[in-house]
Amino acid sequence: MFKALLLQQGEDGLASPAITEIDEGQLPEGDVTVAVEYSTVNYKDGLCLSPKGGGLVRNYPHVAGIDFAGTVEASEDSRYAPGDKVVLTGWRVGEVHWGGYAQKARVKADWLVPLPEGLTTRQAMAVGTAGLTAMLAVMALEDHGLVPGKGPVLVTGAAGGVGSVATAILAQLGHEVAAVTGRPEQADYLRDLGATEIVARDELTEVTRKPLESERWAGCVDAVAGAMLGRVLKQMNYGASVAAIGLAGGAAIEGALITPFILRGVNLLGIDSVMQPYDNRLRAWARIARDLPMDKLEAMVEPATLADLPRLGADILKGQVKGRVVVDVN
Ligand code: NDP
Repeated sequence: MFKALLLQQGEDGLASPAITEIDEGQLPEGDVTVAVEYSTVNYKDGLCLSPKGGGLVRNYPHVAGIDFAGTVEASEDSRYAPGDKVVLTGWRVGEVHWGGYAQKARVKADWLVPLPEGLTTRQAMAVGTAGLTAMLAVMALEDHGLVPGKGPVLVTGAAGGVGSVATAILAQLGHEVAAVTGRPEQADYLRDLGATEIVARDELTEVTRKPLESERWAGCVDAVAGAMLGRVLKQMNYGASVAAIGLAGGAAIEGALITPFILRGVNLLGIDSVMQPYDNRLRAWARIARDLPMDKLEAMVEPATLADLPRLGADILKGQVKGRVVVDVN
């Protein structure tokens, strides 16, 4: 038996969570069983924990948690043996497959990566999908020519999970970082992570029909989309790139015009962490171990337990979680 935060559907069709003892025989199919140590809370976890499962959860009862890190307990795959430390992010685990909000998980070996050298399982979950995505975004910007010294790099939704990690990594790499936040009270937190400039969210949310604005940014990691991305595209330096990772401010790109692309050669780079191929995951985790200062990572962490998850899931959907949550599932 093991403990899990189980989501069960009521007669009204709405799901609610409760900490429940589960028999190991109920775990889904998979070739590796992991004793989970830590999980985390990403925006998508908030959706999966919500009463309608955010349109992502297909079947109940369900165990959410899109990320986990722990120790292999049993393996039918030659790549993993009992005692190995492993990390899982993405692959729709926690959405269509039972996830990390439990003391045990069973998954396909293909979905795992070995715990990156230099990180603990707790640190790996302080990173989680949000941090991996931030690193993938920085790598994409670099692959498209971003180098330090070209001017400030903008990070939107900066006090959130992806934004916090992106801010810390970019600063560590020697970039000036302009952090956009709707929470002015988080300015000191963002400066401590390495932001050199704080931009008020309101400055970038008015939709305009201007074809272009003054060039301001050498790159951008955008977690917000909506009106903000429409504005930011018009403010990018000639030839610069935006890595689009999220939609915290809306799924449309409001007020966007073709002008930044055809008059300034601006690039919009799409970043997906869920189906990211194995080799690039390894590359990103190695870069995280090298380029994300662990003291800055620790400064982002809010510790939590399974019992805190219903509240934290609701909070992240309201944009009220700061930095990264680390859930000790035991
Ligand atoms: P968080 O909630 O931790 O961060 C989002 C931040 O965006 C908030 O903290 C807030 O920052 C800002 N924000 C929230 N609502 C609005 C709004 N209406 N207008 C403008 N800014 C807003 O979530 P995550 O960092 O975990 O995820 C961020 C986004 O990235 C989500 O949309 C998520 O679905 C997506 N995502 C995509 C991935 C991928 O593979 N492409 C992987 C991971 C996440 P502040 O208070 O500082 O303004």
